[in-house]
Amino acid sequence: VHDIGKNIVAVVLSCNNYDVVDLGVMTPAEKILETAREQKVDVIGLSGLITPSLDEMVHVAKEMTREGFETPLLIGGATTSRMHTAVKIAPSYKNPVIHVLDASRSVTVVNRLVSKTLKKGFLDEIKKEYEGLREQYSSRGQKKTYLPIEKARVNKTNIEWKKLHIHKPEKPGITLFQNMDLERLRRFIDWGPFFIAWEMKGKFPDILKDKKAGVEARKLFDDANELLDKIISEKKLTAHGIAGLFPANSVGDDIEIYADENRDKVLTRFHTLRQQAKKRSGQPNKALADFIAPKEAGIADYMGAFAVTTGHGVTEMVKKFEQDHDDYNAILIKALADRLAEAFAEYLHREVRKNLWGYAQDEDLDNEQLIREKYTGIRPAPGYPAQPDHTEKPALFDLMNVQDSTGITLTEHLAMSPASSVCGLYFAHPEAQYFNLGNIQKDQVEDYAARKGMSVKEVEKWLAPNLAYDP
Ligand code: SAH
Repeated sequence: VHDIGKNIVAVVLSCNNYDVVDLGVMTPAEKILETAREQKVDVIGLSGLITPSLDEMVHVAKEMTREGFETPLLIGGATTSRMHTAVKIAPSYKNPVIHVLDASRSVTVVNRLVSKTLKKGFLDEIKKEYEGLREQYSSRGQKKTYLPIEKARVNKTNIEWKKLHIHKPEKPGITLFQNMDLERLRRFIDWGPFFIAWEMKGKFPDILKDKKAGVEARKLFDDANELLDKIISEKKLTAHGIAGLFPANSVGDDIEIYADENRDKVLTRFHTLRQQAKKRSGQPNKALADFIAPKEAGIADYMGAFAVTTGHGVTEMVKKFEQDHDDYNAILIKALADRLAEAFAEYLHREVRKNLWGYAQDEDLDNEQLIREKYTGIRPAPGYPAQPDHTEKPALFDLMNVQDSTGITLTEHLAMSPASSVCGLYFAHPEAQYFNLGNIQKDQVEDYAARKGMSVKEVEKWLAPNLAYDP
């Protein structure tokens, strides 16, 4: 999805008389530092949307040290935190490194950094706070206990496979959803995250009637719907999607996808990671593979995959708005395209449950119930808490030739392009649920790397936030 926050930072700072040089996305450290020098900037800001950005930020901090920079470094974006900034980034650069929680705070922070009178006090405060966080972090690691991966596997989710009738997909294989009608998708929009993207706190739809934020929220909502009307009537955005349903079985912590019911030809293998933190008794150490019948049980099970985008056409619209110096609509269109992409994912999942797979043909849920996930089955996304490894995306893309039918590509950092795209796997088992992997130990990382044919170092790079140890 788009990094709306970064765009808002630029607008908010500009409105406060700061000059902002926006270098766009996936900018190499070299280019950032070169520009910072040329333009003699007062502050550098980095925004991180997916996990590889975290490592990249450390790299930028190190480069700043190497090149003798003194410019303060601001850190923000969805994957970042005060803890990560204090523990991982700040130690690489002896000048100020400051986590900024949301765009609205960027002005106060920058004001203090450029103020002759406020700067010192502010930095002293941050320094003390981050030292405290580092202490907290180093003592925390010791308290948690972890199971060796073999032990964690023994404590996997206990599912009685013989008990449940597994529904064979009504329409196995791949189904394309090209040029989807946006008017139809619109009804599946979850407006909650839209207001969060704009950093307006409060629940939808209550926020529209909120005493403090209500007037602004209502205006934003009306503007959004007006722009949506225009996008739909003038066909400004193109929506493409793909869903596939395949014979599948789990083998250890991996999931094999088969070419047909003979189940002897493996099309691809998805790898899953297992929780390793020691659980209270009765609590399993989960992995997504637990929700697919094991091969040795001899039960025919299935798994699905999907990818959707509503992002084709966004760049053109953004350019047009920017030419007209209309920052507001340039951000609004990105936020709306992200909403439509999630709405498409919701629509497609329902289509799968009710028709393509057809295991819930009688399901009858309204949009609010859909948003609250009142249905059977899940659609975990690679890179999200249950499977934080983004390197599982290429397998999903190859399996269904996602690029050819949807135009979605994977960047070097395995983000999807265009930005307003969503992909994931479908699990139908009633006990399938989202969970948070948490931290894992080196024994699992080594085993996982071997299964994937990757080096341990490479896996550690992608799973950096989930490592229970210092690599
Ligand atoms: N209604 C929301 C839906 C997106 S967030 C919106 O419009 O923004 C929910 C999605 O995030 C899920 O469908 C799933 O794809 C992903 N997700 C959430 N928690 C997850 C987890 N723990 N592991 C993997 N994927 C997860």
